[in-house]
Amino acid sequence: MHPDITEILFDADQIALATRQMGQQISADYAGKKLLLVTVLKGAFVFMADLIRNIESPVEVDFMAVTSYGAEAKSSGVVRIIKDLEASIDDYHVLLVEDILDSGLTLNYLRKNLKSRKPLSVEIATLLLKEGKQEVPVDCKYVGLICPDAFVVGYGLDYAENYRNLPYIGILDPKVYS
Ligand code: 5GP
Repeated sequence: MHPDITEILFDADQIALATRQMGQQISADYAGKKLLLVTVLKGAFVFMADLIRNIESPVEVDFMAVTSYGAEAKSSGVVRIIKDLEASIDDYHVLLVEDILDSGLTLNYLRKNLKSRKPLSVEIATLLLKEGKQEVPVDCKYVGLICPDAFVVGYGLDYAENYRNLPYIGILDPKVYS
């Protein structure tokens, strides 16, 4: 285990199982539909890469990058798009793929933004959900794993751009950021 990690919450096998189950559900729900997975860089890219390989129906991908205004540690919900989608989405069913749903402010903003482009539908798939932490209601169609209220890293999730390469999701020692 990495010395900065105090506890492994989800190991690679648990993540793989949750991803496989979500992929199967998405395959069933979107069979025969034109599906576009949209991922917000960078945190969700590892999850997206595994999720797409568990979806059997045809699927396309696109990426967005956003930056939050305001304090770093806490999401403000005021988001600036620094990389937008490459094409219009009006004839797609869009699935927004996220790494972790915390306050929900970022996803709430992004969902509204995507809806304004008039796709056939917009739903959300998140690997991790911090239950009870949402400051705005966010309707998530797919949730992989329930995460305790702690700052977690690994499997794409970072702190100051580090730890994304860990194959598991663990709690970061508060000593690292305090
Ligand atoms: P929200 O707008 O839901 O509060 O924040 C969502 C974003 O904040 C996530 O996509 C992620 O980038 C970041 N975030 C929230 N909680 C955590 C956490 O525990 N660990 C890490 N590494 N990022 C987090």
